[in-house]
Amino acid sequence: MSAIKCAIAKPELVRAECIEKNENPELAERFEVGSVPHTVFNEGAHQGLGLMPEERFVAELIYLKSAEELLDQGLLPGQEEGKAPSGFGTIEPGEVDLVIIGAGPAGLTAGIYAVRAGLKAVVLEKHIVGGQVALTPVVENYPGFTSVPGKQLMDIMSEHAREYVPVHEGEGVESIEMGDLAKGESIIVTTNRGTYSAKAVILTMGAAYRKLGVTGEDKYFGHGINYCASCDGYLYKGKSVAIIGGGNTALTDALHLKNLGVDVTIIHRRDSFRAQKPLQDSLEREGIPVLWNTVIDEFQGDGKRVNNLRIRNLMTRAVSDLPVDGAFVAIGQVPATELAKSLGVELKPDGFIKVGPDMRTSVPRVYAAGDLTGGLQQIVTAIGEGSIAAMSAFEDVSHPYWKE
Ligand SMILES: Cc1cc2nc3c(=O)[nH]c(=O)nc-3n(C[C@H](O)[C@H](O)[C@H](O)COP(=O)(O)OP(=O)(O)OC[C@H]3O[C@@H](n4cnc5c(N)ncnc54)[C@H](O)[C@@H]3O)c2cc1C
Repeated sequence: MSAIKCAIAKPELVRAECIEKNENPELAERFEVGSVPHTVFNEGAHQGLGLMPEERFVAELIYLKSAEELLDQGLLPGQEEGKAPSGFGTIEPGEVDLVIIGAGPAGLTAGIYAVRAGLKAVVLEKHIVGGQVALTPVVENYPGFTSVPGKQLMDIMSEHAREYVPVHEGEGVESIEMGDLAKGESIIVTTNRGTYSAKAVILTMGAAYRKLGVTGEDKYFGHGINYCASCDGYLYKGKSVAIIGGGNTALTDALHLKNLGVDVTIIHRRDSFRAQKPLQDSLEREGIPVLWNTVIDEFQGDGKRVNNLRIRNLMTRAVSDLPVDGAFVAIGQVPATELAKSLGVELKPDGFIKVGPDMRTSVPRVYAAGDLTGGLQQIVTAIGEGSIAAMSAFEDVSHPYWKE
């Protein structure tokens, strides 16, 4: 749609053609079109995946670079210092009811619910909208979509959110000052672009899967290397995979995959598990093999997919090969809790933010949602928690419980 609009607006500069991939398989193959919409600029000089907001489409068309590259180079529209980025419904830094930090599924949903409840809110995103989902090749467990590329799902979600709430890409939150609650002082949120004064803050900065950091891991991520068994496990039914790790997540993932009909082997660098005893018992009952005292030296493949693990026994130092169809790295997650810690927000023993069922944290006027709160880290839980956090913020801004 944006391409056609550009061609109509500037026919002397832009020519656009819309192509149905099933009817043009040779073109789809030539430009490696796996999902749609997929925009090929100038015969492949640059390609854009998913539904792009109009402003971003025009920027990518002008510079023939991805929004991520433009952001890094300060070329995204309105990125001039001290100004909010331009785009659908942006606002200048200033006074708002609610600042939402992070534009993944939790933050975008919180934005929709907050504005629909009547709050003046803004979503601040230090990078590009979409969070971790935007990096996920395919999502197959989000109700309503049998199979959808993660980026496309998040483009649709952000388009929806932008109907209600300003979403500022490239605007990272650097610090938060709570102000004196007794004196009715506002919360001061400082970003790389300016300062917001707010009545409440929702933290939705997510978490990142911990990586092993070995050769081939980044190259084959999404091509046989996975971090989320509940997301991608079903792809390996009848195939053989290795799970790397020895904690609760690794063992739960191993049992989950075994239950799906996957041939699983666990690789663990120690000689015993950290996981709970009942999980260890289940693993033994299921007869899942374990390679103890073993580490991965390299993920190897044919250039397209991983097909072999170069492993090393730490006791004997023997190096060997383990042919696999895939691998799941299950060595934990790192929640983005720096800002929460600076506010004195209480964390759980596992390092995630402690919230009540209403998503209130231990600090009045501060809420948290999504992966940051731990538990089942999925899109559906993130959006559920985002909506609850927004409604709790709305309740408290209207009727502060700390005054009662
Ligand atoms: C490889 C992979 C595959 C997955 N597959 C699936 C799947 O198939 N199905 C499923 O349901 N789930 C899947 N997940 C899990 C899902 O992506 C997460 O549960 C979900 O993204 C959590 O959403 P969130 O909004 O809490 O956080 P995130 O998506 O992590 O978003 C957090 C956002 O906050 C931003 N941010 C961080 N700090 C700041 C700051 N200081 N200022 C401003 N912005 C900031 C980040 O840039 C990021 O955009 C997958 C995850 C991964 C990594």
